[in-house]
This record gives sequence, structure tokens and C-alpha cells, in this order.
Amino acid sequence: MTALLPFKLVYHERYDLNLGPHVFPSQKFRLIFELLLHEGIATQKDFLRPDPASDEDILRVHTPEWVHKLKTGTLTASEVMLLEVPYSPELVEAVWLAAGGTILAAQSALRTGFGSNLSGGFHHAYPEHGEGFCAIHDVAVAIRKLQAEGSIKKAIVVDTDVHHGNGTAAIFRDDLTVFTLSIHQENNYPAHKPASSLDLNMYDRADDEEYLGALIPAVQQALDTFQPEILFYVGGADPYCEDQLGGLSLTKDGLKRRDRQVFEEARKRRIPVATVLAGGYARRVEDTVRIHVNTILAAREVALAFPSASVARS
Ligand SMILES: [Zn+2]
Repeated sequence: MTALLPFKLVYHERYDLNLGPHVFPSQKFRLIFELLLHEGIATQKDFLRPDPASDEDILRVHTPEWVHKLKTGTLTASEVMLLEVPYSPELVEAVWLAAGGTILAAQSALRTGFGSNLSGGFHHAYPEHGEGFCAIHDVAVAIRKLQAEGSIKKAIVVDTDVHHGNGTAAIFRDDLTVFTLSIHQENNYPAHKPASSLDLNMYDRADDEEYLGALIPAVQQALDTFQPEILFYVGGADPYCEDQLGGLSLTKDGLKRRDRQVFEEARKRRIPVATVLAGGYARRVEDTVRIHVNTILAAREVALAFPSASVARS
């Protein structure tokens, strides 16, 4: 078997958050992996297997107290309530792996133009606590790692999850090296939305055209003015019209166009793209899986359509 994709996918069988019956379908990671193989989109050769992020990597973003509580299972009852998922050692292993996976996808993107972690996007995590199913902020960990190793100076986060990227906004609030863009439903979780560099607040039931009409010009302008060296794409599946935790009205086709158009804008400017999953709570888990797989297909289309846009840096 040879590789089929012009970029690498990152996956680990222990990405599962071990939640049991829960609105967060933690089996989706495995289902996405299996569908990519089953439909002949990828072979085993297309995958990289991440190591867990090192504690040193995690501690560039999170406080020693929070890391200690996660590793020793000593969260308070209110901290578990805020996290909204049951604590388990498997959960901790999964989020350390997710952060390692986002680092690996980003490093791969810097070499080949794209890299996709089939987990991550835990954008509600704050330095000192977890929230909304998110314990460790994998994207922030990856950005700090790339900056620490000198691979990049400036990054942009384009967060298309239906929920505001509150953790991302808080972590990078006073940091001029990271531009944070969040497009989300205004009347939705989280109640407190610290300001991103740019927040696009969508009305309830906004459709494909309203959403793309707001997002794409904003991405174009942000890329032109900020000129980042990498784009982290938080590709939420939950703006989908049948999502149980979302109140927007995007179609599957609209979501795929969203992905493709953002990737095109980056690719035209030779900016590498690292993608992560984020949320997806469709009534039918197959829909969530399909939307996430479509993100990979959109990346493939753009990579093939702009083959000469070599983004590799020496
Ligand atoms: Zn979400």
C-alpha cells in the first residue's frame, strides 16, 4: 500500500475520551479513521502516530497546578462540573495524545503545506482549568511548541466551531504573535466570551451564505494584514443544521465549502494549514463523521488544485 494523500493525517487509537454514553461522541475519532480507510481516501501509509505531548510542552500553556490535578485525578467536584465530562485516566491520556497529535500535524504542515490531526480543537480549555469537554488546549500547546523551537513566529487560529473559542481568546489575549478569529453562534455556550482578535457573532439559524459571507472576507483580510506563518484550522462540525448543541443552519455542502475556501485563501498565500476537529453533536453520529472526513477531502482538493504553492520553508 502506498500513501494516497499529499499530506499526513495524525491518529492514535487512544484518542477516544472514554466517555461512555455522552453527547460528545468520543467514538467519532475511530469512526473517522475507519471511514477514511474504508472509502479508500487514505491507507495506513497516510497516517502518522503521535506521542503524547511532553509535560514541558503542556506547561508552556497550562499551570503546574492544573497539570498536577489532571495527572493525579485530584480535580474538585466543581472543576469536574465545569469540564462537563467524567474524569478518567484514559481522558488524560487522550488529551495529552491530542496535544502531541496537533504538534505533529503542525510540524508536518510546515513541511508539506497541510497536516491534519484527527482529534484536538479543545478550544474551551484555559491555562488553569478545563471547560466544555476540553481539558488541555492542544492548539495553544502546538503554537507555543513551534515558537519555542523557532519554527514560526506568528500563527493564526481560525475557529469555526459553533461555540466561541473562549480558551483560545483568553490564552492569547495580550499576545501580538497570535491572531485569533472565532466565528460562532452568539446565543450559545460559553456565556462569557473573552474577546478574540476578531469575533464573528452569528445570529441563530444563520445559513451557508450568511456564514460564508462573513467568514471568507474576514479570513482574507486577516491573512493579508497579519501574514501568519501557519494557520490552525479548528474545523467544528457543530454549525451543522442538525447539531444538538448548535443553533446555526449550515448544510454539509456549506461546511465543506467553508473548509475548502479557508484552505484556498491560505494556500494562495503559501501559508501552511494544520487542521483539528473540535465539536460535532449531530443527531446521527454518521453526519458528524462525514463532516469531519469532508474537511480532509477539502484539504486534498486544495492541495491538488494548488500543487505549485510550495510552502516548505528552509
Ligand atoms: Zn462546539
